[in-house]
Amino acid sequence: MKTVIISNRLPVKIIEENNEYTLIPSEGGLATGLGDVYKSGNSIWIGWPGIEVPEERKEEVTQKLAALNLYPVYLTQNEINLYYEGFSNEVLWPVFHYLVTYAHYEQSYWDCYRSVNEKFAKSAMQVLNRRDKIWIQDYQLLLLPGILREKLPNATIGFFQHIPFPSYEIFRLIPWREELLNGLIGADLIGFHTYDDVRHFISTTTRLLPVNSSSNILSSNERQIVVEAFPMGIDFDKFSDLTATERVQQEIDYFRTGKEDMKVILSIDRLDYSKGILERLKALELLLQLHPEYIGKIELFMIVVPSRDTVPQYSELRDQIDQFVGNLNARYRSMNWIPVNYFYRSFSIEVLSALYSTADICLVTPMRDGMNLVSKEYVASRNNNDGVLILSEMAGASKELTDAIIVNPNNIGDIMEAIVTALKMSPSEQQMRMKAMRAIVQKFNVKHWVNNFILRLNEVKDSQKSLLTKHAVNAINEVIVTKYAQTQDRVLFLDYDGTLVDFTGNIDDASPDAELYDLIENLTLDKANKVVIISGRRNETLEKWFGHLKVDLIAEHGAWQKSFEDKWNSLPLLTDQWKQEIKTLLETYTDRTPGSFIEEKSYSLVWHYRKAEEGLGELRANEIISHMKILAADKGLQLMPGNKVIEFKNMEVNKGKAALNWLYDKNPDFILALGDDHTDEDIFRALPDDAFTIKVGNNISEAKYYLNDFNEVRKLLWSLVKEAFVGRS
Ligand code: UDP
Repeated sequence: MKTVIISNRLPVKIIEENNEYTLIPSEGGLATGLGDVYKSGNSIWIGWPGIEVPEERKEEVTQKLAALNLYPVYLTQNEINLYYEGFSNEVLWPVFHYLVTYAHYEQSYWDCYRSVNEKFAKSAMQVLNRRDKIWIQDYQLLLLPGILREKLPNATIGFFQHIPFPSYEIFRLIPWREELLNGLIGADLIGFHTYDDVRHFISTTTRLLPVNSSSNILSSNERQIVVEAFPMGIDFDKFSDLTATERVQQEIDYFRTGKEDMKVILSIDRLDYSKGILERLKALELLLQLHPEYIGKIELFMIVVPSRDTVPQYSELRDQIDQFVGNLNARYRSMNWIPVNYFYRSFSIEVLSALYSTADICLVTPMRDGMNLVSKEYVASRNNNDGVLILSEMAGASKELTDAIIVNPNNIGDIMEAIVTALKMSPSEQQMRMKAMRAIVQKFNVKHWVNNFILRLNEVKDSQKSLLTKHAVNAINEVIVTKYAQTQDRVLFLDYDGTLVDFTGNIDDASPDAELYDLIENLTLDKANKVVIISGRRNETLEKWFGHLKVDLIAEHGAWQKSFEDKWNSLPLLTDQWKQEIKTLLETYTDRTPGSFIEEKSYSLVWHYRKAEEGLGELRANEIISHMKILAADKGLQLMPGNKVIEFKNMEVNKGKAALNWLYDKNPDFILALGDDHTDEDIFRALPDDAFTIKVGNNISEAKYYLNDFNEVRKLLWSLVKEAFVGRS
């Protein structure tokens, strides 16, 4: 079993010189973090090698890459233009960074994005085995998990997104939104940098796709998908150790000479509109205006690494930065001082290390950033525990580096104030903050990130497997049907809503259909069977729907019972005196929640919110629980959250007690109980150990087995009917 990493780019740079290809392995954070993974055993990293290789030389490049455990996906320039520059960087990047007006929803981009994701899948299939662990990286390959899942239904697939995930309101603007989400949920584990991204992804997916969520687990068809935050780290030791090397020390001397008394503010970014570069410059301008005492005393070292500057928005931004810096320097400079040392180029890691380890302040103010590694690299380089980090609250890193001075990057005054605070910060406070941040960056380094992700992926797969063994579909033939055929005195407890029929927006629409009647009649034809419909519905409703059949009925969770040849009986000593007061209170929630309504039964009240706005219903339900739970307990009531409902009922009434009551002085040799709701858990708990208890829906349950939905329930019941028929004939 090997691990297969798949990302847009391979962690290697290929240089062609004198008709010879040379490979330079990347030292980037991801490559370092994943080094132990893809370099071990026969593991492999699949991706685009970064250049267009002519057909006749592909074999040669493939061979060279194979020596480094790398496997190429060759892309044409046209594919790079449409899939990478186009869809990835002109649709997904701006939308995911909340700059929706920058997005170009070109059909040709999307078509190519899809076909290139298919191409990655095809390449992957050439090296993948059924049991391999697959880890896909980033937003260029959102469709890949889904494509691979179709080809390898049982594969272990992890996905990590390195950029933010937007809120539902933003994501839903994308014309191909469902396709993208369906691609992503092909994974078993989906990772983001922050919990906010996780929340956004879960709410987007549950709103746009027919999937359910229970905290951070999504259920789609028969699979559970775990969504979790894994804040990515850096190679702490590398940055910490670098500062002592001779090369870096030379750079430091060179850079610091003559600036002994100058306070240096450092800013390092790739050219991008998400980085807040102009706002940062405006904050410096404001500082020089409002605090002229700092003129000649502070310098901003601003490195902007060239990126995508053939795209108009990027070249415009570059021009704006050029202009702003030129203007600011021209206005404030003196003969031997300029406020902004601006570099539009990249530097060696040694120069970066020299800057990181000597700058008094590091100013990181992106408008939105998945993580932001520069802030962590600065912290890791501060071996003396001094220096101040100013960090945007919109960067993922701000969730971990809470000892930085946190700013809103849109608030120029806020950034300016933060710079002043940093300039004035006492050495002891600097030490205190930096020590705390260093401990975090050191512990949550990139290796830790990789190990955590892989560990969780294994756990998710294991729990999927154990869930699979509980899936009653697999147990039907082997256990349930066999026992059924061998027994003569059977009882079947059947919940109604969500178990025998699907949920509907209108509770009265969920009446039994012809197939269900046929099924129940067939079950009751067998004299060995007693069918008990045990529901939260009102007795009148059950009477209307099932009164004519040879079934026993338990209504309102046990408040009412009736055997088929008998009359309805209610539990003795029940009171409904409490209803008016509770109802009046519930009405105040109904008045504030369009789509909600109250259902009144003889001994219970139900507040329904299935048709209320997604999210609002849940919010109100939580409000009701927290406001009314003490009152309910005082009145001897139980307050039960269910599937889009909250029910108030007498404490004594419960389906478990009702089932045991029904079983009193009976001794069946086969008990089957099917239910989907919290209230059914009472039955599962109450029944003897040898009963077959089956939860509908694969949530955590006391039941021994689960089935996915009412269709699977009906299939199971039909297979019992057929077995009995075969048995009789
Ligand atoms: N970086 C670099 N050369 C430079 C300047 C920066 O390689 O001249 C690196 C820097 O060390 C950091 C990365 O670029 O690791 C930027 O990562 P970050 O997460 O801050 O931003 P991104 O560009 O990924 O949005």
